[in-house]
Amino acid sequence: VFIAFEGGEGAGKSTQVRRLQEWLTEEGLVARTTREPGGTALGGKIRAMLLDPASTGISPRAEALMYAADRAQHVHEVLRPALDAGEVVITDRFVDSSLAYQGAGRTIPMDDVRSISRWATQGLRPDLTVLLDLPPEIGLARARGRATADRLESESLDFHLRVRHTFHALAEAEPDRYLVLDARQTLEELAAAIRVRVSTLLEG
Ligand code: C5P
Repeated sequence: VFIAFEGGEGAGKSTQVRRLQEWLTEEGLVARTTREPGGTALGGKIRAMLLDPASTGISPRAEALMYAADRAQHVHEVLRPALDAGEVVITDRFVDSSLAYQGAGRTIPMDDVRSISRWATQGLRPDLTVLLDLPPEIGLARARGRATADRLESESLDFHLRVRHTFHALAEAEPDRYLVLDARQTLEELAAAIRVRVSTLLEG
C-alpha cells in the first residue's frame, strides 16, 4: 500500500507522516516513511543542490529533470522494493508535487511534467494521496525560520497560489485517490481523519 502526502509550505506533512507511521506500527504493520526530494543517498545530494539558496539560476527544465532523477532513484531503490515486500510506504511528496511546483509554479506544460514523471516512476502511483491544504499566507508564515525559508521568500505569493490551486485541481480530478484536509485543524484532528481513511484503504 502506497500513501503520499502533498501540500504547500508549512502544512505539517512531516508531522502527519510520522504520526501515521507510528500508528500503523502499533497496529502491527510494517510501515516505512520516506520523502522527496531526498529519499535516497543520491536524492539527498540532489535535494541539497535544489534547495541550496546559493544555487540560483537552475533553469525550470533542469529543475524538473533533477526532481525526476531524485524520483527515479527513489522508486528504484526504496519505493518499489518496499512495496514488493508488502510494506506500507508513506512518502512526504511524490509526482503531484512536481505537477504543482514544476508544472504550475514554474509553468512547465503539465503534459511534459506528467510524461517525465511517468517515465521516472515507471507508472507507479499512490493508492491514496493526503493533501494537507493551507492558504499560502499561513503556510509561509509557519515555514519561516526553517533552513529553506530564504528560498521560499524568493517565490512570489502568486507562485504558491498556483501550487495550491493545482493540488485542488488534481484532488478534484481524482476524488477517490485524494483525501483533502484543512491543515488549520489541530494535529490530533488531522491524525484522526487520516487514520479513518487509511483504515478503510487497508480493509479494502
Ligand atoms: O516538503 P519539503 O519542505 O521537504 O520540500 C522542500 C522544498 O522543495 C519545498 O519548499 C518546495 O518548495 C520544494 N519542492 C519543489 N518541487 C517539488 C518538491 C518540492 O519545488 N517537486
